[in-house]
Amino acid sequence: MSLAELAERKGPNPRVLVVEDEDDIRTLVRYNLEQESFRVDEARDGAEAYDLIRRRAPDAVVLDLMLPGMPGLELCQKLRADSATRALPILMLTAKGSEVDRILGLEMGADDYVVKPFSPRELVARIRAVLRRAQVNSAAAAGPIYERGRLRIDMGTYEVFVDGQERQLCLREFELLRFFVEHPMRVYSREQLLDLVWGRDVFVEPRTVDVHVRRLRRQIERDDSKPELILTVRSVGYRFNPEALG
Ligand code: CA
Repeated sequence: MSLAELAERKGPNPRVLVVEDEDDIRTLVRYNLEQESFRVDEARDGAEAYDLIRRRAPDAVVLDLMLPGMPGLELCQKLRADSATRALPILMLTAKGSEVDRILGLEMGADDYVVKPFSPRELVARIRAVLRRAQVNSAAAAGPIYERGRLRIDMGTYEVFVDGQERQLCLREFELLRFFVEHPMRVYSREQLLDLVWGRDVFVEPRTVDVHVRRLRRQIERDDSKPELILTVRSVGYRFNPEALG
């Protein structure tokens, strides 16, 4: 599978947090979401919801406005004020005919609303829609393009092109390449690369870096027996030389 395909497959099913104090409605929403393979968390009030969101960020929130304690609108505002949760999709549940709630909710940053009593099918469709929009937005935000000479890297879709030809990199090769282009010219030791690209929690031998560099060179160098882009700095490590791209 190519990296682009991997990026397409968003891993596990989306997790939705349902914030509603009325048990019947919460259970109804949960049931319908689970029928559609969503994973569901529940909270009965704003404080519990806020706590849950910070511990295990959901992919979307279904938020009732009428909650004991912290009202839905206040929670909405709080989530929007925090950079970690600013983009979290929020679907509001509002009481029938309460125009004021709807307008306020959208002003406070909700992405969409459903009026009670709602059809479960519509609710699920709306959640899908806010999730889709959020995905498009985050792909656009996280997708800068690196382009120099014969090399083009799309950071959002994980696609790498050399002379217009797509190269199939594994995830770690891609991350190593991204690290190199973002930190040109500086020399990094194998241990530093392990820390910075693989992460400290992973136990891998420094030799792993050499293996990945070798594979990466095969993909992006003109002649991988005479590398010009990823240079070996003897007894130190590696450095990326974008000058060779022209
Ligand atoms: Ca309620």
